[in-house]
Amino acid sequence: MTSTAAATSSMNTAPKFSSNLDNGHRHDWGVDEITQLFEQPLNDLLFQAQTLHRNNFDPNEVQVSTLLSIKTGACPEDCKYCPQSAHNDTGLDAERLLKVKEVIKEAVAAKAAGASRFCMGAAWKNPRAKDMPYVLEMVKEVKSMGLETCMTLGMLAPDQALQLADAGLDYYNHNLDTSPEFYGSIITTRTYQDRLNTLSNVRDAGMKVCAGGIVGMGENLRDRVGLLQQLANMPQHPESVPINMLVKVEGTPLDQVEDLEPFDFIRTIAVARILMPQSHVRLSAGREEMNEQMQAMCFFAGANSIFYGERLLTTDNPAAEKDRALFVKLGIRPEKRQDVSDEAHQGAIEQAIENAKSERMFVDASL
Ligand code: SF4
Repeated sequence: MTSTAAATSSMNTAPKFSSNLDNGHRHDWGVDEITQLFEQPLNDLLFQAQTLHRNNFDPNEVQVSTLLSIKTGACPEDCKYCPQSAHNDTGLDAERLLKVKEVIKEAVAAKAAGASRFCMGAAWKNPRAKDMPYVLEMVKEVKSMGLETCMTLGMLAPDQALQLADAGLDYYNHNLDTSPEFYGSIITTRTYQDRLNTLSNVRDAGMKVCAGGIVGMGENLRDRVGLLQQLANMPQHPESVPINMLVKVEGTPLDQVEDLEPFDFIRTIAVARILMPQSHVRLSAGREEMNEQMQAMCFFAGANSIFYGERLLTTDNPAAEKDRALFVKLGIRPEKRQDVSDEAHQGAIEQAIENAKSERMFVDASL
């Protein structure tokens, strides 16, 4: 049964909407109350999520980040959804670690195209000692361009987390993927506790945490509840919570899994927003499969961050022009960074949006 089917009358089932939630720092969510949030009528859920969203963010701003794969494929981990795993035969060509100057070139292009954060991902179990000088240099160089920096390199030991923090890394991404109960059906080469340990090493080193998961892998509602419970009950909420919709890549063990009911994805975004009201909830992998209306519902449900650009590590992502056109239709603006004044950069984004408007193909919802 989908969560939609389980929803009945709002008069009887809507959980009490406490304004205390607005402070956003509960870390004691129970399975039953999260399940209740999921199962209420969609309009009630969206209303709660949007109300909290408006209390914490500009509802018409979305943060844009660009993701670059700095080392692709041949990963020793066996994540069943991932085309980069050496265990999955997807025909992906493995590549070596990119040179620092190649990464800088991509970061310059991402900045010119409007990204405010540059995320660099490597398909590793964990970075080796000989890789660290290169990744540290990448962080320093990208940071010096006025971009926020994020990396995802696999598991991190405490000293590696400290080195990255010292180099100026703002965020580290490490997803929990799913609930502890379903996790063993998806990955066997690292444990859930390994992931929690890396996230705590990142926090202890003073970096911001980007952690989320994937839905549509054949998990059930209880697993989606379990994933969000793990994230929301961390001692400090992750600053970024990417919610991915599985991209079924041929050659992975999940390529035939049943399609996710789109409303179940939208509900997951809305519940993430309610549980972690001050986190950026990122509409991440899977956007290529979503039409504009579904993306708009996700923004209404509280998603306020996207990856922007042609590729999302190794799967397609809507082209930047399509995203700009959607922003124009919805009256959405890219979020300005609070910590730096970068008018040239902001001006480039705004000009690109003006250009999209002047094509006169779309309704300008911002007027
Ligand atoms: S998700 Fe990451 S760790 Fe898992 S196989 Fe893919 S690249 Fe490796």
